[in-house]
Amino acid sequence: APGTALLTVDQLSAGYGKIRALHGISLTVQAAQIVCVLGANGAGKTTLMRALSGLLPVSEGTACFDGQSIANVPTETLVRRGIVHVPQGRMVFAQLSVRENLVLGGFTRPAREVREHIDHVLDYFPRLKERIGSRAGTLSGGEQQMLAIARGLLAKPRLLMLDEPSMGVAPIMKDSIFAALREIRDRERLTLLIVEQDADIALDIADEGYVIETGRVVMQGLASALAGNEDIRRAYLGG
Ligand code: ATP
Repeated sequence: APGTALLTVDQLSAGYGKIRALHGISLTVQAAQIVCVLGANGAGKTTLMRALSGLLPVSEGTACFDGQSIANVPTETLVRRGIVHVPQGRMVFAQLSVRENLVLGGFTRPAREVREHIDHVLDYFPRLKERIGSRAGTLSGGEQQMLAIARGLLAKPRLLMLDEPSMGVAPIMKDSIFAALREIRDRERLTLLIVEQDADIALDIADEGYVIETGRVVMQGLASALAGNEDIRRAYLGG
């Protein structure tokens, strides 16, 4: 239900061997909310996503999803529990068709259910529907991002984590991707955690935002308040 914390991260630290990239990150994501994490190159956004999706060990602190710890839990277990991560750079299978990529997204589920779900998910991305038989490698950057998101949805996530969905995407396609994300949240009550460098577009659809710098949260608040904040405008919106 809205108003219930689905994801609670408390004082989480993670890194690469002896190099610490996150220093005690705390954040909360309510069910059916869109929360964005903003920050410059190297701030630790990708590291956070990877720590929350079992791709990187958590060295300190806690992360709970729906009341259960998710720190240092294998990725496949997290996917089955409903945490799905769409990585930076999309990682679609270039040699496979759009449909084949989508089928792979539903690998944890019965095949017949997945076939029906593909049709449903494609309603959010009409552009992909037109290219269903094309090889993923022939799609534009924006279409590949749509495919990566749609493939993530095929796993039936409760929490979808997106790492820089606007990266390498033409402006008009960005708008269409973010509009689709908002529509998906509204209709499916899906919870979204979005990491972005493009603060403008992320704050536009988010309910709440966090700004991280060198692995620490330096600002947080309602997305509308952050969008109007002068410091943020100067640092991330070129204004
Ligand atoms: P970007 O937008 O470039 O992805 P980011 O905010 O996602 O930036 P991270 O990729 O999480 O930042 O990087 C956070 C810190 O961790 C940086 O100082 C980076 O140099 C370091 N780092 C990232 N990956 C590795 C790695 N594989 N080994 C060692 N250090 C790394």
